[in-house]
Amino acid sequence: MISAVDALARLRDGNRRFVTNQSAASTTSTHARRAGLLAGQEPFAIVLGCSDSRVPAELVFDQGFGDLFVIRVAGNIVAPSQVGSVEFAAARFGTRLVVVMGHSQCGAVAATLEELLGRTTTQSRNLRSIVERVRPSVETLLSGRGKMDPDALMHDAVRANVRASVNHLRHGSELLEGLIIGDGLLVVGAEYSLESGVVTFFDGVPEAG
Ligand SMILES: [Zn+2]
Repeated sequence: MISAVDALARLRDGNRRFVTNQSAASTTSTHARRAGLLAGQEPFAIVLGCSDSRVPAELVFDQGFGDLFVIRVAGNIVAPSQVGSVEFAAARFGTRLVVVMGHSQCGAVAATLEELLGRTTTQSRNLRSIVERVRPSVETLLSGRGKMDPDALMHDAVRANVRASVNHLRHGSELLEGLIIGDGLLVVGAEYSLESGVVTFFDGVPEAG
């Protein structure tokens, strides 16, 4: 299995191809590639992203069958089943890079902001469980600040939510903590821009990367 740093470089390269319209999807998503993976998989990165239809991890990183172990949930939140999914891939396949990827204009973050600003309330108990997980980091962001430009607020809220998920993965699992300390597992935060297609890695990225 490749190292976290190499995996990160591979994702950066893939995103660069995607942004410059040089995607290699026609060679990485073929039937031959699918058939070649029947005996097993070795995904080089785990991506926890949002369910938003505009943010498909494989496409924005220009990857194909067998490359990424992807968990998608509205607001890229971390609940026990997401931690379990990351644990599974890290332990089973030896994958050493975990990316939490938020994105601009995230509906789950926007809904949480609206609620914290007193403009709406979420009725569904199930939907509430998502908003409640986004809430703490966004709440902290709002406290102690004066009136903020709505766009700047949204931008900061998306990143605060990503950081919260990254932290949860780093410290919410003994198994993952052990792999981080002793086996080179890296958990990083990233933001995808709907406007440009660029993924910016901003949390936990090694200096050299
Ligand atoms: Zn979203």
